[in-house]
Amino acid sequence: MLRRKMAETNIGALLVTHLPDVRWLCGFTGSNAALAVTPKRAVLFTDGRYTTQAREETRGARISIAKHSALKEACALLAERARRAAFDPQHTTVAELDLMRSVKRGFFVPLPSPLIATLRLVKDAGELIRTERAAELGCSLFQEIVPRMRSGMTEIALAAELEFLARGMGAEGMSFETIVASGPRSALPHGHATTARLPRNGFVTLDFGVILNGYCSDMTRTVHMGRASREERAAYDAVLQAQTAAVDAVRPGVACGEVDEAARSVLRKAGLARYFTHSTGHGVGLEIHEQPRVAARQEARLVPGMVITIEPGIYLPGRFGIRIEDMVAVTPSGARVLTQVTKDWMEIDAGEDRTRAKR
Ligand code: ZN
Ligand code: ZN
Repeated sequence: MLRRKMAETNIGALLVTHLPDVRWLCGFTGSNAALAVTPKRAVLFTDGRYTTQAREETRGARISIAKHSALKEACALLAERARRAAFDPQHTTVAELDLMRSVKRGFFVPLPSPLIATLRLVKDAGELIRTERAAELGCSLFQEIVPRMRSGMTEIALAAELEFLARGMGAEGMSFETIVASGPRSALPHGHATTARLPRNGFVTLDFGVILNGYCSDMTRTVHMGRASREERAAYDAVLQAQTAAVDAVRPGVACGEVDEAARSVLRKAGLARYFTHSTGHGVGLEIHEQPRVAARQEARLVPGMVITIEPGIYLPGRFGIRIEDMVAVTPSGARVLTQVTKDWMEIDAGEDRTRAKR
């Protein structure tokens, strides 16, 4: 697939250094790698720490253990075998570029547009299964963590419990720093867990993800501790409606901007659009943020096999915030929600051990 794309775009040889791209192309998961791809062959360069692992994991590429620098040796090989080689400017540091140029000046040209990111947009059956498993683990975690929420516990303590449970349930790690934003802090779209305590009365936003078989999950739920006001409850319903409308808008051929607009228009009608200060979603896969961007005016169209998040939210500074996020896979007939766990209104008794869901 990569070679077809390279031929189409007239790229004779390619240097791949972005580790998720290397993994996606040849399976190697080590932390030091440079993959040299020519029309006939691919060679993975890594270092002595990964001799065994590279042999176990790598498919479709020869392995070369570099004596000094994996990158330098990959460059040298390409310089011998091709007239020019492309590299990904999005994922190349200035230091790497210096080193590349020191091997052969004028030989490396930046890709005019992302190549591997575009290929990774559409997940194959195996990737979809892995993504779905990660999403399911995320859902189980949410179910486990809700009964452990108590007002007075710190956000960090809650994040710690969540992450401890995640490992116990088989996660390789968290796909990003767990967000626990409670009370007025829920108005921070990316409120990392702090020493703030879960309120007796107020929202708590949990945004977290796990990594399973290399694939990331990402989901957000917002619950209310204690009795909510009428306004809070109405705001929650508006966000939920916006989120559902955007999920319903997902279909092959629909532009990402239209999905964003589906969520935004619901909040506009509710008079809350000005509090929706970020985009509706993003692709997820080996990385937590991938293509496509689900944002206003994005023209990229959905294709079956894409996995995106749908995560509208509103943030009323100093007061409260609400976000609801699902992962969905684009199918030929619409959207399949991968994070199948309740988004219904949830009030948690502040002092007690019980949760009661109310509709
Ligand atoms: Zn998230
Ligand atoms: Zn997200």
